[in-house]
Amino acid sequence: MNTQPPILSSNEAKVLEIVRKSGAVSRADLAEIIGYSRASMTSLINNLTEQGILTEVGDGLSSGGRKPRMLHFNRQYGYVVGIDMGATSLDIALADFGAYIIERHSQPINLREHPDVILAHVRQIILEMLLKRQISPEKVFGIGMGVPGPVEFSTGLLIAPPLMPGWDSYPIRSVLRETFPNARVAVDNDVNVMAIGEKRAGLGNREDNFFVVKIGTGIGCGIMVDGHLYRGSSGCAGDIGHICVDRNGPVCHCGNIGCLEAMAAGPAIALRGLEAAKRGQSEILANILAHNGKITTEDVGSAVADRTANEIIADSGRLIGEALASLVNFFNPGLIVIGGGVSNIGDRLLASIRRTVLMRSLPLSTRHLKIDISEMGSDMGVTGAIALALEYIFDQKEVMRAREYPYHT
Ligand SMILES: [Zn+2]
Repeated sequence: MNTQPPILSSNEAKVLEIVRKSGAVSRADLAEIIGYSRASMTSLINNLTEQGILTEVGDGLSSGGRKPRMLHFNRQYGYVVGIDMGATSLDIALADFGAYIIERHSQPINLREHPDVILAHVRQIILEMLLKRQISPEKVFGIGMGVPGPVEFSTGLLIAPPLMPGWDSYPIRSVLRETFPNARVAVDNDVNVMAIGEKRAGLGNREDNFFVVKIGTGIGCGIMVDGHLYRGSSGCAGDIGHICVDRNGPVCHCGNIGCLEAMAAGPAIALRGLEAAKRGQSEILANILAHNGKITTEDVGSAVADRTANEIIADSGRLIGEALASLVNFFNPGLIVIGGGVSNIGDRLLASIRRTVLMRSLPLSTRHLKIDISEMGSDMGVTGAIALALEYIFDQKEVMRAREYPYHT
């Protein structure tokens, strides 16, 4: 039984990356892709099959005669866990090394609780999943976790997170490793994790340069450049929620004035809905307020026949579209995927974002630009977290770093 994550040379990591992404590949094709002689390829592959990471089966397409043997990734070599921690919800999934989800858990969460309490609960859920599948905690070789705040990726620490102040510099990685000693733990901003999920299994699958914009309690953007996530110098690239869109706007929780997030995210939509209900500008919202005692973002989003509610949503889409138009002119992405709870409002919000981006961007930058709502729903986060965990295990740079600083990961 393997009780350690694979220790790989950089060439082995390269081979595994190709096999992992292509599903199955023959030795000859692999040698051609990497540019190795058959002899050097043989010793490299023998090493990987002896370690049990690769398996070779005779199931390739034959042009007559014996079926060629194909190399596959051994999905049962180890397991990974994806954790998607939102502002109000927690999603956890257990997957094999082929990223195939075998257990799934979702529940509401209160991020104001101490991280010790929340992570003890997370560890308990994972242990129950493993027990159910009769998998030892030592076989968990990777954990990927998305959190709703700015993360310094190299250390996995949240730095001054506005939505979760108790988590500032909290050592998530080492706490998880107390229970899962063989796991390499990667913590990243939730929107970055969503972008990895879209690249792996969503609309971003065929696009190398794209944004994923999450509109929920906050607003953030994951940036994919040439097929790789761009994290920036400290890990907080894409934090577009605090771009100023109105110098006379309301005070944001970050302390600045007129931030995009403070004017267009879920809470801003709900607040404007509440004001409209109180002022008698919307009969539907006034009725909801009288009945429920409050107005939620969903209430405004589902009041489809209400003019005021539609204006609130169109305004939110316009502000987001204006901020995105500047980014489109700067970056020229081929696709913008919209996700997060507020994106459930759907077409009216999407239409307003599209219209504004098209109006405010240069014609050449929007010629091939597609803007769509993610089709992955609540799976985007955990799918991304699992892909992040696997990437972290097999990433060349991280593999080298793990060898140099085995206790750092
Ligand atoms: Zn702000």
